[in-house]
Amino acid sequence: MKYAREFMLPLAGLPLGETVYTFDLEHPFFVLNEDEEVTEAKVHVVLVLNKHENMIELHFKAEGWIELPCDRCADLYHQEINGEQQLILKYGETYEEESDEIIVIPPDLHEFDIRHLLYEYIILMLPYRRVHLEDEEGNSGCNPEVLHRLEQMQSEPVIDPRWEALKKLNNLS
Ligand SMILES: [Zn+2]
Repeated sequence: MKYAREFMLPLAGLPLGETVYTFDLEHPFFVLNEDEEVTEAKVHVVLVLNKHENMIELHFKAEGWIELPCDRCADLYHQEINGEQQLILKYGETYEEESDEIIVIPPDLHEFDIRHLLYEYIILMLPYRRVHLEDEEGNSGCNPEVLHRLEQMQSEPVIDPRWEALKKLNNLS
C-alpha cells in the first residue's frame, strides 16, 4: 500500500518548532478509506506541525475537489473542498481522544497515523446538500434531461388512492 507510510508522522524524531508537510490526496486515498462513492479526487493538504515540549499543534488546510454523484440529477460533479482543522496532541499517561481537537498521547509514542483524521476532516468539509453549482447566470449545472423529467413528474396530478377506492365503492352501489 503506497499510502501507508506517507501518513505516519515521526513524532519521536521531530525537532522542536515548525515542520510543514504536504499531501496530495487522489482517488486511491478515498478508496482505501472505503469510500466507494468517490471516483476522482484532487485535494491538496498543507499540514503545519508545531512541536513544543509538552504538546504538538497540528494545523490542516485542505483545498481541492472530490467527484460525487449529484443529489438532484445523479450525474457526477466536482464538489469543491476548502477548509481548515486544528488538532493538539498532548502528552499524557495513555492514549485518549479528549475531544475532536485534543488527543492525549503517551510520551513514548514514536509514530502517529493521520490517514483517518485526514479522511474525516475532508468528509466533514462536504456540504450537507451535494448538488451541481449554478453557472454565472444562475442556471442549474444539473443534467438538463434529468431536470426536465423531474419537472414533468412533479406536474403530473397525484391521485389519492383512498379517493380512488371510494369511487369504486360508489360505482358498485
Ligand atoms: Zn446535478
